[in-house]
Amino acid sequence: MATRLRSIPPTIFSEMSALAVRTGSLNLGQGFPDRDGPPGAVEAAVEALRAGRNQYPPGPGLPELREAVAEHQARHYGLELDPTSQVVVTAGATEALAAAIFAFVNPGDEMVVLEPFYDSYVACIEMAGGVRRPVTLRAPDFRLDVDALRAAVTPRTTTLLLNTPHNPTGAVLTRAELEAVAEVAIEHDLVVVTDEVYEHLLFDGRAHVPICTLPGMWERTVSISSAGKTFSFTGWKVGWVTGPADLVSTVMAAKQWLTFSNAAPLQPAVAHALRQEAGFYDGLAKELEAKRDLLVEGLRGLDVEVYPPEATYFVTTDVRAYGYPDGMAFCLALPERAGVVAIPSQVFYDDHEEGRHKVRWAFCKETSVVEEGVRRLRQAD
Ligand code: PMP
Ligand code: GLN
Repeated sequence: MATRLRSIPPTIFSEMSALAVRTGSLNLGQGFPDRDGPPGAVEAAVEALRAGRNQYPPGPGLPELREAVAEHQARHYGLELDPTSQVVVTAGATEALAAAIFAFVNPGDEMVVLEPFYDSYVACIEMAGGVRRPVTLRAPDFRLDVDALRAAVTPRTTTLLLNTPHNPTGAVLTRAELEAVAEVAIEHDLVVVTDEVYEHLLFDGRAHVPICTLPGMWERTVSISSAGKTFSFTGWKVGWVTGPADLVSTVMAAKQWLTFSNAAPLQPAVAHALRQEAGFYDGLAKELEAKRDLLVEGLRGLDVEVYPPEATYFVTTDVRAYGYPDGMAFCLALPERAGVVAIPSQVFYDDHEEGRHKVRWAFCKETSVVEEGVRRLRQAD
């Protein structure tokens, strides 16, 4: 195995989903919905398959999908994008992140990243030979510590990787926090890569603010999103990158060597979803909000500290009262204790003290599944 891979552990999501299958446990670990996205989009995919749209599409994506992404950015955020030069389709947000990191991070470059980090960030920065500079969002409210952000930037910092709404904490960066990030990025001339895959899944009337809409940020920001979370098609792996033409073409320079192009018949289907199915994600956010409440209430009855999320699929808890050495030990014992699987968030931290006892629970499941999870946890308590 190449040296650069040896220090990167296998992804926790595969490990924990395999544990759920092996033990027949309820999987509140990996974040994927147990219900499909809009049927109209499935129909559009089937039509595309039958219509023979089965050969390589253009590397940057089918024009109709790039146009639909541009229309979405205009509708929601008032952005005017040229679909031919400012949008690139990718294999989910995961490829977009990899391509963006390979595009902008030289060996030895430092990238500022919000901690806890989504796991692929760490792996891609390592593979690029870069160095991560964490800025920790701390419990209980996971707000951005602007002094810590400023302290994380050094002369070797070239890029900043943002994630809002944030996985795993469920925090949504406020406009004031984003303005602080923008100030630092502009002052130090950083390229900002922003992962906004949960852009439509916010609760309690909150609004998502893309950092690229702040003054001075468009020209330095690459924004990433995906149909996985917005349309509950996590298995389709269709994502996209948007931004100014020079940055997007640099991402494309890396992307062409990763996948070259992406699943042809799914692209018209996602274009259809973006154009016709906005009602789907509005409804999904409402349903998730109710399930968030259900799980938060259920967890509050246990011996855990609960940090209710502002968005996403996930609730974070602190499980130290159970007396396990860490969240990993708790999660490995949980299938036998309660027939439930969760994610030990410590794998998303360099700060071992802050991460040690944190456990993440997914609520992007049918209500009956969330209820059953709570019932099992209570029974085992
Ligand atoms: N970023 C974050 C924060 C995520 O939670 C996920 C999982 N959806 C991804 C990126 C990867 O997205 P995709 O499945 O579209 O590759
Ligand atoms: N984004 C999903 C999560 O956080 C998992 C995606 C994956 O398995 N790579 O659970």
